[in-house]
Amino acid sequence: MNQQLIVVSNRLPITIDQDGDEWQIKPASGGLVTALDPLMRQNHGTWIGWPGCGPEAPFDDLANRFSAEHGYRIKAVPLSEIEVEKYYRGFSNEALWPLFHDLLGNCNFNLENYRSYDIVNRRFAEVAAEASQANDIIWFHDYQLMLSGYYLRQIHPDRRLAFFLHIPFPSPDLLRRLPWSYDLLRGLFAYDLIGFQTLRDHRNFIHCVTSFIEGVDVVSRQSRLTLLRYGGRYIKVGNFPISIDFKRFSQDAGTDEVAKAARDLNESYGQRQLFLGIDRLDYTKGIPDRFFAFERALEKYPQMHQKASLLQVVVPSRTMVPDYIDLKSQLEQLAGHINGRFSEHGWVPLHYHYRSLDSIQLLAHYRAAKIALVTPLRDGMNLVAKEFCACTNDNQGILILSKFAGAADQLGKYALLVNPYDIEKTADTIYQAFCMSESEQFWRMTALRGQIRRNDVHLWLKTFITALNKDAEESKSFLTDKK
Ligand code: UDP
Repeated sequence: MNQQLIVVSNRLPITIDQDGDEWQIKPASGGLVTALDPLMRQNHGTWIGWPGCGPEAPFDDLANRFSAEHGYRIKAVPLSEIEVEKYYRGFSNEALWPLFHDLLGNCNFNLENYRSYDIVNRRFAEVAAEASQANDIIWFHDYQLMLSGYYLRQIHPDRRLAFFLHIPFPSPDLLRRLPWSYDLLRGLFAYDLIGFQTLRDHRNFIHCVTSFIEGVDVVSRQSRLTLLRYGGRYIKVGNFPISIDFKRFSQDAGTDEVAKAARDLNESYGQRQLFLGIDRLDYTKGIPDRFFAFERALEKYPQMHQKASLLQVVVPSRTMVPDYIDLKSQLEQLAGHINGRFSEHGWVPLHYHYRSLDSIQLLAHYRAAKIALVTPLRDGMNLVAKEFCACTNDNQGILILSKFAGAADQLGKYALLVNPYDIEKTADTIYQAFCMSESEQFWRMTALRGQIRRNDVHLWLKTFITALNKDAEESKSFLTDKK
């Protein structure tokens, strides 16, 4: 019997729009979609999720069209407006998201929202149960679906169930603030494999379950995989840093079309040294702190005047949530303030764009910029950091990276690492990058690219599936990262 890969995530990897009488279905943007799309094409699997459209859209026709073009099926879990409000915006994005990013001050804990999360997680489990057969792998993704495995296990006790958390996992001290932390942890035990981005997340989870839940045995511990026993079942827990399709990014960035678009960008910004920020609008990305650090660098190092500019692209996201609306206006004000303070004839220090980029423009931005400023306050991985390195030309380019991005585990040795809360030192690092010699850029970028090339998204998938397929005995020894 064929083994099908069933991926379940909150959103389907599509956007559906209406143009007059015509309905359009297009692949969506975002980290998870970018990573999994090539793998789903190869496997001809099924992707289950919320389509993000109302009942008026002809979903079945559009889904057929999508499958024919993309080589894998999509299946919808419809959600009502109230469910979107409570399960998605309320519990997922206003409780779990800030809590798991160590930002307790942004949390809103509400029982009604948690109840809706529980009900919707069960619905996702029911759709996945119906779409699957005995041999299939059902792989749930991310913080919106932590309880789905628990409900699926009740319907099909023998299915192979995996879970991957794309965002960080908090320490016990933080997680214990959540009134439903025990239920979430116990729910996660329904999975056969629970994957995290980094060793720190993996360890935090082990600390949480061994401190909050009685009867958990740690059977064996490796740097990549821990084997637990609970309620007569084995559960594997590991760290699997997600990555990108290095080869594709690197090749696509080398085309004439991208080279021309990059040249146009450099011309329009006066051939200055470009620092680049590309982030979704999100308070975890540390964009205001980055602006402060850039402002401080301009204050301390007038040598940068006229010679360097920060190009910040902010991709619209969660546009109806009050914290995000506030952040957007804060960024606009800060950009205006910095430009008002430092602009000189013919030079604008900060170019701020609130929009998404198409793929050519995205690659052209990576190519045009010499320095990427990736400074989140906390981030599960951060694919932009890896994509930037993959797209650089002649191994020239510099990555300034937050210590609190998951990517720092793999890239921290050759990137310039910063604490984004430390404005002064981040400003100094900005200047260090501004002055960096070509030879230093070369050895750093060569090492960064090598790391990402060897640990690409194909290896991520292979390692995850290998871990899932190992039995308890085999799990006691496991692979390490390719150096
Ligand atoms: N991205 C995109 N359109 C844009 C800008 C970025 O599709 O206009 C993609 C980018 O290529 C990357 C993803 O969005 O793959 C962002 O992933 P990341 O892990 O950096 O952050 P997330 O948004 O998932 O928190």
